[in-house]
Amino acid sequence: MNTDIFDEFESEVQSYARSFPVVFERAEGCYLYDTDGKQYLDFLAGAGTLNYGHNHPVLKKALLSHIEENGITHGLDLHTSAKQKFLENLQSLILEPRGLNYVVQFTGPTGTNAVEAALKLARNVTGRHNIISFTNGFHGVSLGAMAATGNSHHREASGIPLTGVTTVPFDGYMGDSLDTAALLEQMIDDPSSGVDHPAAIIVETVQGEGGLNAASEKWLQQVDRICHERDILLIVDDIQAGCGRTGTFFSFEPAGIKPDIVTMSKSLSGFGLPFAVVLIRPELDQWKPGEHNGTFRGNNHAFTTAAQTIETFWSDDRFQQHIGERARQMQSGLEKIVRNAPQGMLKLKGRGMMQGIECPDGEMASAVSRAAFARDMIIETSGSEDQVVKCLCPLIISEAELSTGLQILAEAFNEVIARKYSKAS
Ligand SMILES: *Cc1c(COP(=O)(O)O)cnc(C)c1O
Repeated sequence: MNTDIFDEFESEVQSYARSFPVVFERAEGCYLYDTDGKQYLDFLAGAGTLNYGHNHPVLKKALLSHIEENGITHGLDLHTSAKQKFLENLQSLILEPRGLNYVVQFTGPTGTNAVEAALKLARNVTGRHNIISFTNGFHGVSLGAMAATGNSHHREASGIPLTGVTTVPFDGYMGDSLDTAALLEQMIDDPSSGVDHPAAIIVETVQGEGGLNAASEKWLQQVDRICHERDILLIVDDIQAGCGRTGTFFSFEPAGIKPDIVTMSKSLSGFGLPFAVVLIRPELDQWKPGEHNGTFRGNNHAFTTAAQTIETFWSDDRFQQHIGERARQMQSGLEKIVRNAPQGMLKLKGRGMMQGIECPDGEMASAVSRAAFARDMIIETSGSEDQVVKCLCPLIISEAELSTGLQILAEAFNEVIARKYSKAS
């Protein structure tokens, strides 16, 4: 397979392509196909953008008929029937049944755009500049969002100081011995802690890029209370953990909290189309017209597939049950891999369909990813040292497909562990 044009002509900034150096041509459901027609099981799924798989027939049909009827493609922020349908479905099938009251801001169509808007709004509404974010958090790579991102690999590329954010330890950062919510509360209340009273706290309930660290419900409730009692806004960045990935539409539902602001993107369109929104508690919607904008904030193709996605998957609880079943299957498969490895070597991470296995180092995790690729499976790593092998397969995956994926993963781990030991002896 010839990849010369990518090697010679595309910027060195490419990353995922380095792990899977083939040319992909088609995709359907949980599978990608290269130009030789070879099939790969996709456990990366657009880094969580393809929760409903590739080219889902119902979503594809909705998009094709929208185009066929000369439906609007680009609409800035004009009222369109596609946007109307999306808003109606979001309100009646997602927000109302969950007792959530938000207005919707359409931003430029990437996650980092939504995060920028959320931080900007929080600062303007409160008149404070500081934002609290957490160790290993990832919120995007534009300057404001990157200031709230922990990863030094990304931060070092900024070229200018990243300011306006205080980073504090996430749940479990120091193991079970330290209650990091209590520490957070103490630091906010101590006038000499050096932490400026924040406009907002931004948090992922499960840190996707940061290594599948899952916050406990209790910890999230503590953070929510700390915010409430002190007039600090709570922003949940649900860009990766949302849209069903952890088992419920919003990842914060099991904790029973109602964030002030929620950022959504990745799987929101359902079809892999660029799309991002900020959900805002109505009293906080103090934007002046056009104060924040973005040429591509009216991606009507994404509105069309997003509206259809909500209707198809979220109008009753069948899909949620399916995710629960697959999540349990994933967990028991991964637990078996951990059990079969030398005691203490591997650790299960994450929750829902956002689980993975932590290796002792990034080298081992990337060897596992390579061994899986040799078995025609696409799977990536995350975490501060890229040490976590991360299962992000489409949520629509069948029992048999998931079982195949877990089997491949088990073989990949076996191979890498065996190699490690043969080298050691
Ligand atoms: C991917 C991601 C972002 C950034 O989204 P982009 O579309 O890459 O800008 C922000 N927050 C979280 C939690 C993410 O997973």
